[in-house]
Amino acid sequence: MYDYDLLVVGSANADLVIGVERRPGAGETVLGSDLAVHPGGKGANQAVAAARLGARTALLARVGDDGHGRLLLDSQRAAGVDTVGVLVGGAPTGVALITVDPSGDNSIVVSPGANGRLTPADVRAAGSLFHASRVVSAQLEIPLETVVEVVRNLVPGSRFVLNPSPPRPLPADVLAACDPLIVNEHEAKVILGDDAVTGDEPEEWARLLLAKGPRSVVVTLGGEGALVASADGVARVPSVEVRAVDTTGAGDAFTAALAWRLGAGEPLAEAAAYAARVGAATVTKEGAQVSFPTAAEVDGLCG
Ligand code: ATP
Repeated sequence: MYDYDLLVVGSANADLVIGVERRPGAGETVLGSDLAVHPGGKGANQAVAAARLGARTALLARVGDDGHGRLLLDSQRAAGVDTVGVLVGGAPTGVALITVDPSGDNSIVVSPGANGRLTPADVRAAGSLFHASRVVSAQLEIPLETVVEVVRNLVPGSRFVLNPSPPRPLPADVLAACDPLIVNEHEAKVILGDDAVTGDEPEEWARLLLAKGPRSVVVTLGGEGALVASADGVARVPSVEVRAVDTTGAGDAFTAALAWRLGAGEPLAEAAAYAARVGAATVTKEGAQVSFPTAAEVDGLCG
């Protein structure tokens, strides 16, 4: 019996957002809107998304001993995430400085801060969380060596899900542990590197990625839905038609939902179809964590 459906290992950031008429050039100062501070980071987002759906979720992350760290801990706890694995101190909380212009285009500077100090030793020290979790998910906003250690600490019988964002080439042992590797088009191309094929052929990327070692692959395609690939072949997952307002966090919500449903024993295509509904519900609302749906909202989604 597992205590947690999902253990998320990853980043927690404070997103500092200012609206501007136009983004400044070098050496220039522009005035902007009031500052908005939102909890974010891919790890924190995935944990909140899973807990919102009803998954028993724990987060292994590092935040600073500062106000942003407390904001992140509060938002995790409010969503029902167990924060026993959230380490505090070592560096300021990670921050994303975001300016958004009226057309919605943004410029982002990320200071990884405490996320960069989540070490392999921190992973080893959290062994009991690994034993207590059915599925473990990770992203790449923490050091790659830490993700490598996550893979080494997986307990037999548990399942590993990776969204390699921001993407970089991955070691063979990390790729081999993924079930699935979840990528969008950009991530697929970076991971494939020289093996990338030209043209818009997600089926081909999925096949090529699978040949690199993961047990399964999911390619997310925004409003076009997704693709799943495994030894059983490649299959399309239809998208759900919704009025998209803000796509922020759709990938994180999709990954969290997929990990949760796979842990519940659903086949990959079925779990991905559910995750596509969760991603679609997410894009109907502004923001990241505040836009993640409950299971009842997903069930009520038309389409
Ligand atoms: P992110 O911008 O969060 O990094 P991503 O590129 O990783 O996102 P997407 O492919 O944009 O991920 O979205 C994940 C899933 O959410 C998609 O596979 C799809 O199922 C759903 N989704 C995203 N955008 C839409 C949309 N406009 N309409 C319906 N479903 C959507």
